[in-house]
Amino acid sequence: MMAGSHIALGAAAWFVAAPRFGMPALDPVSIGLAVFGSLLPDIDHPKSWVGKRVWPISLICGRIFGHRGMTHSLIAISGCIALLLSEQLSVAFTAPLVVGYLSHLAADLLTPGGLRLAWPLRGVWSLPLCRTGSPFEPLVVALVLSWAWGNTAEKFDLKDGLRAAGVCRLLAPELPSLCEAEAVAKTPRSGWQGLAWVGETAPAVIRR
Ligand SMILES: [Zn+2]
Repeated sequence: MMAGSHIALGAAAWFVAAPRFGMPALDPVSIGLAVFGSLLPDIDHPKSWVGKRVWPISLICGRIFGHRGMTHSLIAISGCIALLLSEQLSVAFTAPLVVGYLSHLAADLLTPGGLRLAWPLRGVWSLPLCRTGSPFEPLVVALVLSWAWGNTAEKFDLKDGLRAAGVCRLLAPELPSLCEAEAVAKTPRSGWQGLAWVGETAPAVIRR
């Protein structure tokens, strides 16, 4: 599948998996890790999105393992499970990364190219639903995304999203209905503050 599809499917997989790990589905760092994990298996292809960014490494990986070789095999899946069970690494880091990685393998399984799960042995496993880059690919991605969104425990809150992005800090007075809390805090106070106790020391002007 194309990099964009893997990104969307990696995020979708995390939306569904996060509540199972007791983690927030819409945490930006976790989504970022899931997306990174969803692109990682194609490190064995120098022309893939991730391959272009780590060019010498992807070239070496491609030469040694071949595209959709070890990084798309049961060895890689075992590595993912080992990573998840590792006590040295935080689940907050490994869970989204592994979920994203496995979403990539599941997506590649849906293409005619399939997966060489038993790598280095020959034999391809595939459930050919759509060809890479075909018009059906966005359709499959859209269906999976809508299913994942329906299964996400958290719902997106526009106000929280704007606050998190810092929009309300800049535009609270212009967007009072969306940024009520910030708008109230930023409203300039009038000159008259009412009567207030100022303590025992009276102003010099009054003393005189
Ligand atoms: Zn792949």
